[in-house]
Amino acid sequence: PSITRGVTVDVPNVSWDDIGGLKDLKKKLQQAVEWPIKHSAAFARLGISPMRGVLLHGPPGCSKTTLAKAAAHAAQASFFSLSGAELYSMYVGEGESLLRNTFRRARLAAPSIIFFDEADVVAAKRSGGSSKNSSVVGERLLSTLLTEMDGLEQANGILVLAATNRPHAIDPALMRPGRFDLVLYVPPPDMEARYEILRVHTRNMKIGDDVDLRIIAEDTELFTGAELEGLCREAGIVALRENISAAKVGNQHFETAKKSLKPALTRDEIE
Ligand code: ATP
Repeated sequence: PSITRGVTVDVPNVSWDDIGGLKDLKKKLQQAVEWPIKHSAAFARLGISPMRGVLLHGPPGCSKTTLAKAAAHAAQASFFSLSGAELYSMYVGEGESLLRNTFRRARLAAPSIIFFDEADVVAAKRSGGSSKNSSVVGERLLSTLLTEMDGLEQANGILVLAATNRPHAIDPALMRPGRFDLVLYVPPPDMEARYEILRVHTRNMKIGDDVDLRIIAEDTELFTGAELEGLCREAGIVALRENISAAKVGNQHFETAKKSLKPALTRDEIE
């Protein structure tokens, strides 16, 4: 990927199958992202204007970024990735010009997806009081973002996907029609999804016959996708630590690995 400070661009190499669970969510994203790009003529024929923005919210490590990348891959769209926190940390003026520049490049490279991580940092509610975004930097970034999103009406093949852990902090101006038209909750994985995530992350591992991924999925309540990925990696390391010429990762390795990992989510955090 090419990297300018604060933004990365590429067509990601992640497919829907790399994401365990979330079947309905994947379908909704396919319709919102892939269809307008792949079937733009059909949209034009029926006079439907495609969505401009989709907001993904949910706890960290549950695949918001990965979903955005898979959507870009499926649509063969250029993927521009921006971090709200990084934009916010720039000098006054610098963040806005990066934002404008990114939208300009996305128009040139269309079809494009602009992915906005930690969107709440830039798109936080304007309260005119002492909140973080009453700063000049925040105000100006938000108004630039609104202007750019409104400008997408004339452009085709560009979609903004934003991710946040704090959807309630997002300024309501961004939720108007033509901006973030679709808001999707990305939940922590349930038992079936955990099983599928474990399958994804053990796909290329040599695992023993005694490993039952269903039982591991049952035993890992509150684990996020990122933590399940970490569990699989750690099990491999445990096996190697025990025997550097190990041929397989066995059940006891998963068990030992699990003891050293504790999920960060608590029951109260699940919506
Ligand atoms: P954050 O809010 O911290 O940015 P996120 O929700 O965007 O987190 P990702 O960055 O997409 O989460 O996920 C982190 C890692 O966890 C990814 O590398 C991915 O491999 C793994 N992961 C998360 N969810 C899943 C899933 N459903 N299937 C497979 N892997 C997953």
